[in-house]
Amino acid sequence: MAAKNKIKTEKKQLENLDKKYIWHPFTQMKDYCRTSPLIIERGQGSWLYDIEGNRYIDGVSSLWVTIHGHCKREIDAAIIKQVKKISHSTLLGLTNVPAVRLAQKLAQISPRGLSRIFYSDNGSTAVEVALKIAFQYWQQASRAARTKKSFVTLRNAYHGDTIGAVSVGGIDLFHRIYKPLLFKTFPVDSPYCYRCPLKRAYPACGLECLNSLEKTLKKHHAEIAALIMEPLVQGAAGMIVFPRGYVSEARSLCTRYNLLFIADEVAVGFGRTGKMFACEHEKVQPDLMALAKGITGGTLPLAATLATDRIYRAFLGEFQDLKTFYHGHTYTGNPVACAAALASLEVFEKERVLAGLQPKIKFLKERLKAFYHLRHVGDVRQCGFMVGIELVADRDTKKPFPVKKKIGQQVIAEARRRGVIIRPLGDVIVLMPPLSIAVKELETLIDVVYEAIKIVTER
Ligand code: PMP
Repeated sequence: MAAKNKIKTEKKQLENLDKKYIWHPFTQMKDYCRTSPLIIERGQGSWLYDIEGNRYIDGVSSLWVTIHGHCKREIDAAIIKQVKKISHSTLLGLTNVPAVRLAQKLAQISPRGLSRIFYSDNGSTAVEVALKIAFQYWQQASRAARTKKSFVTLRNAYHGDTIGAVSVGGIDLFHRIYKPLLFKTFPVDSPYCYRCPLKRAYPACGLECLNSLEKTLKKHHAEIAALIMEPLVQGAAGMIVFPRGYVSEARSLCTRYNLLFIADEVAVGFGRTGKMFACEHEKVQPDLMALAKGITGGTLPLAATLATDRIYRAFLGEFQDLKTFYHGHTYTGNPVACAAALASLEVFEKERVLAGLQPKIKFLKERLKAFYHLRHVGDVRQCGFMVGIELVADRDTKKPFPVKKKIGQQVIAEARRRGVIIRPLGDVIVLMPPLSIAVKELETLIDVVYEAIKIVTER
């Protein structure tokens, strides 16, 4: 009893301090401060434990990062081993052992042609780096190409929260207010089949949405440095899964019109789609690729921007030529994070993670069919271990629920009461469990989410 009271007192104290000092990301603090927040103390496998010892399935892999489960022994051991050697030294003019080993490994496993690794520490910076490299590449590649200064972007895109990444984003709710701060881009429709902007249906449409992309490239290619996209799935937009062939066709158009193709694999990379990288599904070779999130198995912040040799060579010159890429974050290539990433990639190999994932993807696909029995489920989208369940007020008209109903928030609250942590994107319920989740746990996750949606939307 005394121990229980002690925990309750500590929880209350932490809660008060949290509300007093922390400004939470993507969170309306007025709402947050009205509720009693969950205080996570530890994790194990697919489970999160709060300070009172209650456990919850981590249904979104702690914001899409946890790959092999929490406290994965091999990764933790690699981190501890590296910390005992050195926790940080700079990559500006020096190098370190794990950063070198990881760069080699990333070059080996990534789509062909990506041979140079530029480190940073989160998804937004990985994207910023890709944008700046693409821009500077054309400035230095040839005099005639110096007009290539802009980017083609997809509507509904999300590439991070820093200003460059926001400039190439396309989610009004997050991005509109910053418009005066952003550089101009050429936005084109994204292939959001459920709400097709062209009112067509796949596959009869023959990917007509690519026509507007081609039109833009045809007209403006002399001004365009690169096309940036999240290959296969626009994550933050609500798990918009692209129709087959869209990414490879878009890649081909970039080649035809002489611009770079930037693949933002921050969310889809490291097994999420069922292959190590989403580009592999359509044999796409990007010119630049941004990686972060799952790179360390969800343990430490690390990111990488991968580039082709052709791009890299445009930055070579004499010191006084000033062709250097003048960019670098303080914790670039942090040895502890790189050691964690190496250990995570070793687990991928040793445990044959991708092979083991395939039956779980099938199981998930089978079980998701039942969600269409719920009358407010408009669309169920799945790509590998990424799922978005779009809830609508009216299935026939696809009319969304009024924002103030906070349907997505209500669903996650119900799920939490039943021992599952998920986070919605508006009224799209997201499932992104660790790749290592056991089938039984996956079953519980699916059952709880089904029940939570049913209760909230049918009450
Ligand atoms: N790109 C994509 C596709 C993402 O989903 C995200 C984050 N959700 C980012 C970039 C930004 O990553 P970070 O939050 O690590 O800056």
